[in-house]
Amino acid sequence: MDYYKALGVEKNASETEIKKAYRKLAQQCHPDKGEGGDEKKFKEVTEAYEILGDKQKRAQYDQFGSVDKGGGGSGFGGFEGFDFGGFQNVNFDFGGNFGDIFDTFFGGGGAKGKQARESRGSDIEIVIQLDFEEAVSGTTKEVNLSRYESCTHCEGKGNEPGSKMVTCNDCQGTGQKVKIQRTPLGQIQTSAVCSTCGGNGKTPEKKCTTCRGEGRILKDGIIKIKIPIGIHDKAVLRLTGKGEAGMQGASHGDLFVHISITPSKTFERIKDDIHTTQHVHVLQAVLGDEIKVKTIYDETILKIPQGTESGKVFRLRGKGVTRVGSSEKGDHYVKIIVDIPEKLSKKERELYGELIKESGLKITPQNKSIFG
Ligand SMILES: [Zn+2]
Ligand SMILES: [Zn+2]
Repeated sequence: MDYYKALGVEKNASETEIKKAYRKLAQQCHPDKGEGGDEKKFKEVTEAYEILGDKQKRAQYDQFGSVDKGGGGSGFGGFEGFDFGGFQNVNFDFGGNFGDIFDTFFGGGGAKGKQARESRGSDIEIVIQLDFEEAVSGTTKEVNLSRYESCTHCEGKGNEPGSKMVTCNDCQGTGQKVKIQRTPLGQIQTSAVCSTCGGNGKTPEKKCTTCRGEGRILKDGIIKIKIPIGIHDKAVLRLTGKGEAGMQGASHGDLFVHISITPSKTFERIKDDIHTTQHVHVLQAVLGDEIKVKTIYDETILKIPQGTESGKVFRLRGKGVTRVGSSEKGDHYVKIIVDIPEKLSKKERELYGELIKESGLKITPQNKSIFG
């Protein structure tokens, strides 16, 4: 659709002319008018006005013959240093101030927000492997970590103690560096944090001799990580401020600890409950018994009543795992499996024969030797 034709105006029509034309046409064909109303025409006119009535959209339409109505981003390529994943629904606004796009990516907040985010230290992600028992009872792990830490000589500021901070030469104190890029849709301007000053806009007159002005130094060290009782597999602990130090005193990143738990051969854990199976002899199942069950804490006596069927599940209350951050515990479920003996002694065969007689059952035993 040619938007100019739709509104019946010339390509060089003024804003006022476009507005007038739209009002007149919209009134003429408004669907609420009853007869004489024309919904299709009304929609076309409205769409045309939405574009031509907006300075930026009109400029884009004039230049490219179409207007991206959202879902942009595809076919762009060429942006360096930006991860476009996850921003597929960003509504690009061409022809205007590209700083807006930048804000969209970083959640707004203007230049200050961007700087703060960029010069902040990186987050660190590590994986800690735990035994089943360690996860159940909690532990403290020592981890070797190589990370940027705040420089103690300059207290993270980057300047040699006693020297001044001066305006950054690279960005003239703005903290940002602007980059112009050519793309099939015209020039695109992106801005990035100035790498010289880390976005502060100031550099030390005399750089710290220890950290060369960065305000941080790469250090190897051991850090202790407290693992809470009852932690789950694939849990992630976030240790705020335990990531890398930022540039020139900017805040630290966070340390993310991904927990991986080696399963137990004895216990199956489902959330905070423990599941095990226990084999019993058919006589124990028929007559009932008191059996020993190993829990994650101790050995407990479980009373199974007479006539317990195979597959029956008993609950040991409070013998499961402690819920993280609480004193409550899950339960331990014991599934009974009844084992039927495959071989019988001569005496046993006789006794089973007696039982058959006693029960009055008419059965055809498959092992003839039972009856000799
Ligand atoms: Zn700079
Ligand atoms: Zn330093």
